[in-house]
Amino acid sequence: MFKKLLIIFLVLISIITGVSAYSVYQGDDIIMPVVGAKRTSYDQNSFGAPRVGHLHKGVDIFAKKGTPIRSATNGLVIFTGVLSLGGNVVLVVSPGLRFYYYAHLDSIKTNKLKWVGQSDIIGTVGKTGNARFTPSHLHFSISRIYFPFNRRFVDPVPVLNSLFD
Ligand SMILES: [Zn+2]
Repeated sequence: MFKKLLIIFLVLISIITGVSAYSVYQGDDIIMPVVGAKRTSYDQNSFGAPRVGHLHKGVDIFAKKGTPIRSATNGLVIFTGVLSLGGNVVLVVSPGLRFYYYAHLDSIKTNKLKWVGQSDIIGTVGKTGNARFTPSHLHFSISRIYFPFNRRFVDPVPVLNSLFD
């Protein structure tokens, strides 16, 4: 009995380690979430830019209000709703175990606990939350589950740039 449990435990640990190694080194194949966005739709220095009280942990992709937003990856929608800073937000966790956070949406077009395919429409670009006084944009961030908080966020800019190479 004990031996069996030990084997199950070891198998689980190897799966978790394997998946986390995959998510760290591979990441996910992503697509540009904002329909029609170009390399000039976002600032190359968007990630890590100073904001009131913190550093900016994502990229702002500017587009006209109402522009469709596609899911950058396959994944499970784990949160949809309204946050004070993010406004209307959608949070997707991918099979590579990364969180994809979409904020300031004008409208949300998906539901919590829904499986979305890559490029499925999940919302539209807006200026909700603390983006009320800035031009409409998608705040897009990628974070890794297995990292300590300060190293959890990935710079999405090179990832998006690679889509235009
Ligand atoms: Zn932002």
